[in-house]
Amino acid sequence: MIQRSPNRRLTIAIDGPSGAGKSTVAKRVADALGYTYIDTGAMYRAVALAANRQGVSLDNVEAMAHLSETIEINFHLSPQGQRVIVNGLDATEMIRSPEITRLSSPVSAIPGVRRNMVVQQQRMGAGGGVVMEGRDIGSVVFPNAEVKVFLTASPRERARRRCNQLSREGYKMVGSNIKGAS
Ligand code: C5P
Repeated sequence: MIQRSPNRRLTIAIDGPSGAGKSTVAKRVADALGYTYIDTGAMYRAVALAANRQGVSLDNVEAMAHLSETIEINFHLSPQGQRVIVNGLDATEMIRSPEITRLSSPVSAIPGVRRNMVVQQQRMGAGGGVVMEGRDIGSVVFPNAEVKVFLTASPRERARRRCNQLSREGYKMVGSNIKGAS
């Protein structure tokens, strides 16, 4: 049972492994409550995109930390759904390209990048009224969130969802291997 004043807008943290359905659930909950949906994976993708465009090597961890400190990431709700604006540019489709998908995992592992993204995420969620989803959200970013969900699904269902997502992003499934589309 959640004790709260009627006007208090909550922070809802949704954590869980890939393919569990976090974004689907987070979007629906945000929609139903009139809250802002924050896809933290899109933030790491945005950093990967900025590094790629600016020619910053992922090995240069100091430059990557600086880039992630100064990057401007905004989520904008349009009639077509949520748009991701990176340094003033609508990057919604670009951050889903196979190249950026490939880069986003190593980018998310750079400690300085993670630190800066966590600061931005905490700032975005500070006033409540947000549904934030992604790894570490309930444990590191908002350990005191009023609502914390750890969402998972069977390995088969997660694999099915992940395959569908990758195929939407332009990957081709070949046997048990996944190949990046050109
Ligand atoms: O979920 P999505 O595929 O968009 O995430 C992009 C990358 O960022 C993935 O490698 C994911 O593991 C990573 N990530 C993360 N922490 C989060 C959200 C995503 O490390 N909170």
